[in-house]
Amino acid sequence: MLPNDLFAQLSWASALRLRYTPEVLPHFEDWSCQVRAKLSELLRADLWPKGPLSVKIQGREEGDGFTRDRIEFEAGPLFSGAAYLLIPKERKGPVPGILCLHGHGGYMAGKDMVAAPTETHPIARECAAALNYGYGVQLAQAGYVTFSPDAFNFGERLLEKHRWTEKHVCNDYFVDLMLYGYNLMGITVGTNLRLIDYLTTRPEVCADRIGCVGLSYGGIQAVFTQAMDPRIRAGVVSGALHNMATQSSESGGGGICGAQIVPGLLEWFDFDDLAISLAPRPVLYELMQQDGCFDFQRCRKIHEKVAGVYQSLGVPDRTGLDTPDTDHRYSGKDVPAFFGKYL
Ligand SMILES: [Zn+2]
Repeated sequence: MLPNDLFAQLSWASALRLRYTPEVLPHFEDWSCQVRAKLSELLRADLWPKGPLSVKIQGREEGDGFTRDRIEFEAGPLFSGAAYLLIPKERKGPVPGILCLHGHGGYMAGKDMVAAPTETHPIARECAAALNYGYGVQLAQAGYVTFSPDAFNFGERLLEKHRWTEKHVCNDYFVDLMLYGYNLMGITVGTNLRLIDYLTTRPEVCADRIGCVGLSYGGIQAVFTQAMDPRIRAGVVSGALHNMATQSSESGGGGICGAQIVPGLLEWFDFDDLAISLAPRPVLYELMQQDGCFDFQRCRKIHEKVAGVYQSLGVPDRTGLDTPDTDHRYSGKDVPAFFGKYL
């Protein structure tokens, strides 16, 4: 029989060849570049589409203080989809643009939870209300252009038969696409980067003032996307800072699924190392004290480690921490001040 602590043993023995250690500090920038290069290999960036996305604007709605454009983008079947671009009505010239990444949610609801289009399934509204997912709307009302796409195998990037499915389908997509060399996080991050290309071409957006924000799986997307794209100047990672080696359900964590797994990740680094690699760029973390998905005390220790690196780099104020006394849910309390200062 396999020992019951098999995954703990694997975690202790994982190679983590590029893990952050204090010895990295004197050449921190070289280290973060090495992390980006290796992550690019693991995400299979060699399979990403080259060149800009083909983009069409398909409809506009009026919101409370903003307009909501539906953007459809196309770069082959895996890298196509739709996103909502929310543009504040009261603007004096170009403003910062923020990529707003959705979490897992129920029914694979996707971007509708974040951007709240008028026509959607009730479950998207229920998830948005329960977890305060509406940061795409909230930040547009605060004066930012927000851009909310679907991740791969969520929202409109599902097979038609799975739209609003009650099944958890990530692992099926993960297994089937591995046959072709793709991993789901790689497809999602590759698309996010091309969407930032587009966002920077919009006349309403300051191309050098790009931020990103996400709750839960959206926070995980945010770390991977920022680790790959230095154009993102500041980020908010809500309910997502963790360590993958201890998060799998057999290791006693809250579990991970195919949408988050990057094959071979722990041979090189863990998720917290990717978070550290974002320094010295400003990143605000939210950790919920009653989080049912991530262990609060464990995550707070990880943030202490991240904050220690910012301290060592001489920029302690560039990482913030909000610890609301709630379950797994976006807080947003410190977000307007954070983006106001750093974007
Ligand atoms: Zn999943």
